[in-house]
Amino acid sequence: MRASRWGRYSGWVKVAMGILSLGVAVALVALLPWGIAGANSVRAQAKSLPPAGAGGSPGRPAGPPASGGEGYDALGRGAGGRSGHGIEPGSELTPEGPFTPNRMGSIPILEFHRLGARMGRWQLTSAAFAQVIDDLYRHGFRPVNFVDVVTGHISLGRGYAPVVLTFDDGDPSQFSWAPGQPGRPDPQCAVGILWQFHEQHPDWALKASFYVNAHPFGQDSAAKVRWLVAHGFEVGDHTLHHVFLNRVDAKQAEAEIGGVAAWVQTVAPGYHVQTLAYPFGAFDRQLADSHVWSGVVDGQPYHIIGALLVGSGPAASPYSPQFHPYFVPRIQVVDPTLVSPPERAWTWAAWEQRLLANPRLLYVSAGRDISSFDNGRTNPGRGRFNVPVHPYRNPSLN
Ligand SMILES: [Zn+2]
Repeated sequence: MRASRWGRYSGWVKVAMGILSLGVAVALVALLPWGIAGANSVRAQAKSLPPAGAGGSPGRPAGPPASGGEGYDALGRGAGGRSGHGIEPGSELTPEGPFTPNRMGSIPILEFHRLGARMGRWQLTSAAFAQVIDDLYRHGFRPVNFVDVVTGHISLGRGYAPVVLTFDDGDPSQFSWAPGQPGRPDPQCAVGILWQFHEQHPDWALKASFYVNAHPFGQDSAAKVRWLVAHGFEVGDHTLHHVFLNRVDAKQAEAEIGGVAAWVQTVAPGYHVQTLAYPFGAFDRQLADSHVWSGVVDGQPYHIIGALLVGSGPAASPYSPQFHPYFVPRIQVVDPTLVSPPERAWTWAAWEQRLLANPRLLYVSAGRDISSFDNGRTNPGRGRFNVPVHPYRNPSLN
């Protein structure tokens, strides 16, 4: 599937499609606040549904090995995720991807919640999830963790487009052990499916960002968090008690955010939680400027450098002035027939069509040279974490 499906369009058609797609994107971004509110109300209803079965299917008996106690590098990546698990990005073994390099393009950050027996508003079947991954792979997307976007460390082979897979709420269907085999992911859970896909396609790295509350993934929370970070996945913050961060004061916000970070950092020594997903997508504009992003809880210092919204379009490039690391949008992956027509336009099914019809909208890696942006050269003048400086403070948060 290396042949470009849009190569047959002539130049002027491409331009017209570009203008159209941009118009759609602008219109959708303008509708963002509605999208968050709408999604939240649906989500509140979905909360009452019974939890998805984690699925102990008899399948592939052998899974990935349980990990030992590797160290983690400065970006929080486990040693296991850096070596021995796939082709090194940009090596001669990696053929070029189908897209034209463009580091100002946007990045789809996909949002998943649960896997289960049926398709639902906040649930995919295991087969549907595997299909989404396969589809991304075939079209030339490759996964990175959200923290890699925030830090501008998007290290992919030339011509590949980054995609971020995010999972909220620490549902057991995201990560359960194979029956009777603690330490090995169940092949039906999201982690197990990603592992199998990686084994079949070594150039699909083990990357995804998991946003957890207290006691994630049912049983064995600590061992599962250790396993994730040791294999290259990101574990992020979703607050201890899934609180509305726009309804708590600064002290509570710090306890909720720092509490998860402190716990993760205690069970996975050397790893640092660096990003957060707002529960319910609820945020306070002033939160981004407040001091709650850094602190010390239970003796553990924490520092959050990026935060994710709920919905409703691709994220700006971290090199773009449009990129605000504390307000990064996501795209929900849901069966489009299960949502209302206005919301349908914001699903991954709709965005994938738009982006593939005009790949110039996509961030596309130029190859290994991208990693040279690592060392503080990201967006000179915008600060170490690319955060625009606002002079005001919200008194209610101080
Ligand atoms: Zn949540």
